[in-house]
Amino acid sequence: MSARYDAAVIGGGPAGSAAAALLAEKGRRVVVLERETFPRYHVGESLLPYCYFPLARLGMIDKMKASRFPKKYSVQFVSPGGRQSVPFYFHQHFDHEAAMTWQVPRGEFDAMLLDNAREKGAEVRLGWNARELLGSGGVVTGVRATGSAGESREFRAAVTIDATGRDAFAVSRNGWRVRDAYLNKIAIWTYYRGALRDPGIDEGATTVAFVPDKGWFWYIPLPDDMVSVGIVAEKDYLYSGSRDLETIFQREIRNNKWVEEHLAAGRQEGAHHVTGEFSYRSRHCASDGLVLTGDAFSFLDPVFSSGVFLALHGGALAADAVDAALSANDVSAERFSDYGANLCASIEAMRKLVYAFYDPNFNFKAFLMDFPHLKGDLTDCLIGNLSRDFDPLFSAMAKYAPVPAPVPHGAPLIRQPAAAACS
Ligand SMILES: Cc1cc2nc3c(=O)[nH]c(=O)nc-3n(C[C@H](O)[C@H](O)[C@H](O)COP(=O)(O)OP(=O)(O)OC[C@H]3O[C@@H](n4cnc5c(N)ncnc54)[C@H](O)[C@@H]3O)c2cc1C
Repeated sequence: MSARYDAAVIGGGPAGSAAAALLAEKGRRVVVLERETFPRYHVGESLLPYCYFPLARLGMIDKMKASRFPKKYSVQFVSPGGRQSVPFYFHQHFDHEAAMTWQVPRGEFDAMLLDNAREKGAEVRLGWNARELLGSGGVVTGVRATGSAGESREFRAAVTIDATGRDAFAVSRNGWRVRDAYLNKIAIWTYYRGALRDPGIDEGATTVAFVPDKGWFWYIPLPDDMVSVGIVAEKDYLYSGSRDLETIFQREIRNNKWVEEHLAAGRQEGAHHVTGEFSYRSRHCASDGLVLTGDAFSFLDPVFSSGVFLALHGGALAADAVDAALSANDVSAERFSDYGANLCASIEAMRKLVYAFYDPNFNFKAFLMDFPHLKGDLTDCLIGNLSRDFDPLFSAMAKYAPVPAPVPHGAPLIRQPAAAACS
């Protein structure tokens, strides 16, 4: 059996739901194929303030305000010795309701986004696992998927949007994954109930706590008195001495007094999770009839909580580019050059900051003492206002630490040579 759509979206995470909702709203016939049944578990709970803008476009702000998600007004840092910084409040930087964001249990948040796509007219099929891209001669014309009862079906579409997250469906099948060797970390994480949280406006703050010279912890308050807590560091360091995740985690907790004291009040629940392959970008953001978005296109170390923002923003950009391509009756790869260039520019700004974070010679506080006029630029980057010129910021940063050149890949796969998107 086969059916015909304007767009087939593979993956119902934030990127896929955003793209599907916006295309359906524009009157396009959209199907979303999601292999899990929702709500499903996912890591990545801390939002950036600028998530507000794609969420507003999706019509989600009232739902977010009515949710039970902890409100996040700030980020704070804890030194390796356990000393807590003064929180950095977003409202000190910009006077907009976006200056308050949320900490979201992703099962619930992603289900809300997918419901929203359904309400706007997208056909959402849960339990459908994409197996193969359809097409010939390099032109993608849809996807073949299997349902939960094992049935196989073809979903023909003018454009297929790959939003499969870090599974990266098209990237894996085409050999397009290019790893970022410098950001080659792993993460180990779990959840605690009843752990300490700060009072009042700081209750929903994200805390980044450093482990001496080695890595950092995230500490993210969630509903039901739960906290998401994880460590990111080099694989060789974390696995030195033991391969057992719980043993490693308990050892690392003792390396930061603040984390140790905060968790001592709570009880660990559920599994310890691990993931590697931290940062990568696809060689291409699109080919004829195919567009990649969210983590299926690129993943960046989560230290600045940029993933969901880039997924929502990228999903919205993909929807606009696909809609324009459908209107022009031309879904060839060239149509997605600007899409790739825009997305790469946002990722690059964040990537430079991530490099600075891991550089032993770079210190954000010392940098701002030397360049106080760049505080606004730095903060814009950290809150997700990525659509601006960061040249002054990164030229100044280059005086302390090497700033990476943009990666040369990420443009569409155009069968005739054309300009690269990211260079
Ligand atoms: C350790 C860690 C910590 C993180 N912390 C944060 C954080 O604090 N804040 C933040 O913003 N981001 C964080 N992130 C990043 C964030 O989780 C991702 O960037 C975000 O989930 C990307 O959304 P997406 O829609 O691209 O992919 P996903 O959310 O992964 O959604 C992809 C969907 O595709 C489905 N799928 C996959 N393959 C198929 C298939 N073949 N057929 C059908 N469906 C398929 C999956 O089931 C899934 O539902 C973190 C990531 C990691 C690894």
